[in-house]
Amino acid sequence: MQHFPIFLNLAGRRVVVSGGGEAALAKLRLLLKTEAHITVFAQDAEAQIEQWASERRITWCQRNLEPGDALCAALFYAANDTPPEDRRVTKLAQADGALTNWVDNLGESQFITPAIVDRDPVTVAIGTEGAAPVLARAIKRDLEAKLPASLGLLARIGKGFRKAADALPFGAKRREFWAEYYASAGPDALARAGKEGVQDALEGLLEQHLHSAPKRGRVALVGAGPGDPELLTLKARRALDEADVVIYDRLVSKDILELARREAVLVNAGKQGFGPAMAQEDICRLIVEHAAQGAYVLRLKSGDAGVYGRLDEEIDALEAAEIEWSIVPGITSASAAAAQIGQSLTKRDRNSALRFLTGHDVKGFAEHDWRSLARAGEVAAIYMGKKGARFIQGRLLMHGAAPDTPVSIVENASRSTARVIPTSLARLSADLEAAELSGPAILLYGLAPRMARQALPLLQKDHA
Ligand code: SAH
Repeated sequence: MQHFPIFLNLAGRRVVVSGGGEAALAKLRLLLKTEAHITVFAQDAEAQIEQWASERRITWCQRNLEPGDALCAALFYAANDTPPEDRRVTKLAQADGALTNWVDNLGESQFITPAIVDRDPVTVAIGTEGAAPVLARAIKRDLEAKLPASLGLLARIGKGFRKAADALPFGAKRREFWAEYYASAGPDALARAGKEGVQDALEGLLEQHLHSAPKRGRVALVGAGPGDPELLTLKARRALDEADVVIYDRLVSKDILELARREAVLVNAGKQGFGPAMAQEDICRLIVEHAAQGAYVLRLKSGDAGVYGRLDEEIDALEAAEIEWSIVPGITSASAAAAQIGQSLTKRDRNSALRFLTGHDVKGFAEHDWRSLARAGEVAAIYMGKKGARFIQGRLLMHGAAPDTPVSIVENASRSTARVIPTSLARLSADLEAAELSGPAILLYGLAPRMARQALPLLQKDHA
């Protein structure tokens, strides 16, 4: 992020604009939404600018900018649309200590103006660092359609009620009050009885929330999918929006954690600082403790929560503590990996069954029914198989599996860093070692990538 977004308080501050044409006009339209003292320097100005000046909404100095004209200005816009003049005035304004923007010249600007969705006091600023103005406009259009025009009014009335709402205890209870106001009570009252109705609704709602019983905590055990945030279920997305505490595993991607509520407490259960992984009992205790305090806890696991996720131990702990829980399934990495190689996990006349295997379990390398797996046409998704690959390979060959049985190694399935390494049972451990994987990987035994042509460039990069 090169440009850091902030909201600058312009009430009573000076803003100086050099130029009186279209470019200046566009910026002035935005600036006039603020409470800044605006001064325009221009020999000639559009009729609209003249009118604003006559209405005293801005000050218009009918001359070019001179040294000292931008003194004490918080912001300065060079909007002459003539590069030599814009260069001259930008220099002057910088010498006067103002933060400068040269309209439509990203490289020469100290700050840039985002696309804005205005539901004052709710303001959404959209920036792309100049990379994709078209995209910024499309996002603005979407948000304009999504955010009701009444939102600003509701927020203004709500702002006036904040002190009264402080009667509710800080945290979940107060949050629930506001969530209900913005989601339903506020808009309903506005539609029914106008502005005064909203005030009444706030008072009624506060009464109701002041006297409601303290909330009991609950826990959602949620699969976050293989990493791509678009592969989250809608339920997982909603849980991220609502949870007070998110306890997540090492493999849950950063992009997904970004979606959690800003106030949510995020706890990494994969690692403690730089230390070893947290013990399962400690994770169970942590979940129970937070829920017992009334929090809505989101226990976020990679893939599907019920596949190699030690889900039952956590459920047992919750049952013992009599805490309400639910499971939200997710897309397991086997599904994502199969999609990555363009294959289905089951196929008529090839495999009517699919096995999920783990490369190792608590006792070390995991034993399986190797004899049946060695038969032609068998398919298995092998989780946590990196370390145990040589062991698995040896066991299968020993039980008569064909050395040329295809195996697809899929690293970081569904993520932008995804890699597919097609190999065979005979070459499995050698190819795996050569690939030097750093991300999570799954082995799809019995499946070759269908999109070999797409996989090839990745492969070549590997061996480069
Ligand atoms: N509950 C998870 C599995 C947890 S076990 C699920 O349903 O996917 C951890 C193993 O999952 C890793 O060792 C790796 O084998 C696999 N895995 C998780 N995310 C993956 C990804 N994005 N790509 C490939 N394998 C992944």
